[in-house]
Amino acid sequence: MFREQILQALNNPGRPTVSVEFFPPKDLLAAGVMLQTAKTLQPMGIDFASITYGAGGTSRDTTLSYGGELVKAGFPLIGHLTCVGHASNELEAIIQQYANAGFSGILALRGDPPKGQTTFERHPEGFAHASELVRLISKAHPDRFAVGVAGFPERHPDALDDASDIRFLAEKIAAGADFVTTQLFFDNADYFRFVGSVRAAGVSVPILPGIMPVLSLKQARNFCGFSKARLPAALVEELEACGANEDAQRRVGVSWSVRQIRGLLERGAPGFHLYILNRAESAVEVLSALRL
Ligand SMILES: Cc1cc2nc3c(=O)[nH]c(=O)nc-3n(C[C@H](O)[C@H](O)[C@H](O)COP(=O)(O)OP(=O)(O)OC[C@H]3O[C@@H](n4cnc5c(N)ncnc54)[C@H](O)[C@@H]3O)c2cc1C
Repeated sequence: MFREQILQALNNPGRPTVSVEFFPPKDLLAAGVMLQTAKTLQPMGIDFASITYGAGGTSRDTTLSYGGELVKAGFPLIGHLTCVGHASNELEAIIQQYANAGFSGILALRGDPPKGQTTFERHPEGFAHASELVRLISKAHPDRFAVGVAGFPERHPDALDDASDIRFLAEKIAAGADFVTTQLFFDNADYFRFVGSVRAAGVSVPILPGIMPVLSLKQARNFCGFSKARLPAALVEELEACGANEDAQRRVGVSWSVRQIRGLLERGAPGFHLYILNRAESAVEVLSALRL
């Protein structure tokens, strides 16, 4: 539906692309918060939204149902999809459901091992790598979805080395992906080094940097624990200087993100993807400060 709109936004050098990421809420109270956030952000010049896909099983149906709500709220929507625990025919059925629900794009992911497992294990009739999922989407629904893939400025935690990680990213693009959204990072040098290596590998699609306005030092450490993103000492110092004042810590998170995004846009990033954790406050402050 809005595939072209997403691709045009991503490839428009005249204006930065803005996307925001939701996750499927676990209960009705959280659902109310998510939908209110969507309502608040929708008129703020967001080009598209995305919604994550749970690794553990429970949030998988809700990706579809809450994704449908975001479509109704007016967002061109990217549904995330992972290969975890799925045979390829199940993935095909989910992709069809995404089409029926009016999703405009898919972020094609391998996924992480489910709780209790340390390494990723391919379903016997499924896929071992995200590139295979990209191939399936491109083959089953040519030109129906804007297809994105994940990129890792600080290298994927399982990767053997930078060179192979970049080579496998290039494989995902060759399989038919239109753009890359990155893992969160806090130091722009990591993004520009990554983009340089990706371009050197002959990949020219837009690489949307993933930015998370941190809410507190505790939350930032938590996220860096599982994403393996590096938390710069300067950011830790700014957060520590707030003591126990959580609102002051949240405002440091906003200020760091605004500085980070300005630096990224000045040096040619095509826009940014905000990890908003279903909350509007920091996202509104970041977008207002940037006055795009
Ligand atoms: C923007 C973004 C959104 C995300 N959303 C979700 C979500 O909604 N749900 C969720 O569960 N997870 C999500 N994740 C996490 C993601 O699923 C994990 O990071 C996962 O470990 C890797 O997924 P991938 O798609 O990058 O995998 P792949 O591209 O398959 O890469 C995984 C690893 O395998 C290596 N590799 C790739 N291809 C090959 C090959 N042919 N041969 C050998 N090695 C290879 C890569 O170098 C890398 O180390 C997201 C991550 C990002 C950055």
